[in-house]
Amino acid sequence: MELSQKSLEEVHEIISECKRCTLSEGRTKTVPGSGDAKAAILFIGEGPGKNEDLQGLPFVGAAGQFLTELLGTIGLSREDVFIANVVKCRPPGNRDPLPEEVNACFPYLERQVQLIDPLLIVTLGRHSMNRFIPGKQISAAHGKAFRREIEGLGKRVFFPIYHPAAALYRPQLKDEIIADFVKVPALLNKIEAEQDKEQTTVEIEQKAMF
Ligand code: SF4
Repeated sequence: MELSQKSLEEVHEIISECKRCTLSEGRTKTVPGSGDAKAAILFIGEGPGKNEDLQGLPFVGAAGQFLTELLGTIGLSREDVFIANVVKCRPPGNRDPLPEEVNACFPYLERQVQLIDPLLIVTLGRHSMNRFIPGKQISAAHGKAFRREIEGLGKRVFFPIYHPAAALYRPQLKDEIIADFVKVPALLNKIEAEQDKEQTTVEIEQKAMF
């Protein structure tokens, strides 16, 4: 599967017919992701649930409603960001995606990251976090930013938070998710400032060459 020359639309078309893992057998619709194709923030959840599978859209159930509310707290709407999942088809009974399913689906997510090229990747839940930051416990890592060099993706900033669905069955996590979420604008500003500084340094170095 050669995705390196494909556009986001083409990748999503390929996903719609994908049979690379057995999750294709039980799905109603694939859920490639949605939002601004040039978003500064990419949210990555784990996998579609029942409502997402029926509608072909990410985060449309109760957890999705909470995510929309969280975005509102920092002055953003779903159209301002891109929302994707680690696996694009619903695991039966909402079980955790298996490692072989995550691996089979990863080239799609990899290409989405390359094309959207976000400044910040917010991982939602431990599966999404562990795909990029292995070996961490979400209880310790949530709300902290990690800069990682990922093969094929370059240097990226990851910000793990709990999955919004976790707040539905563990209400005590709701305040922690909100507290982490409100850190996002300042983190984004910091990344932008660092990028401007790197850009200025490159410009100065280029000028010095002549
Ligand atoms: S989960 Fe991913 S790899 Fe598996 S069938 Fe769906 S799109 Fe293909």
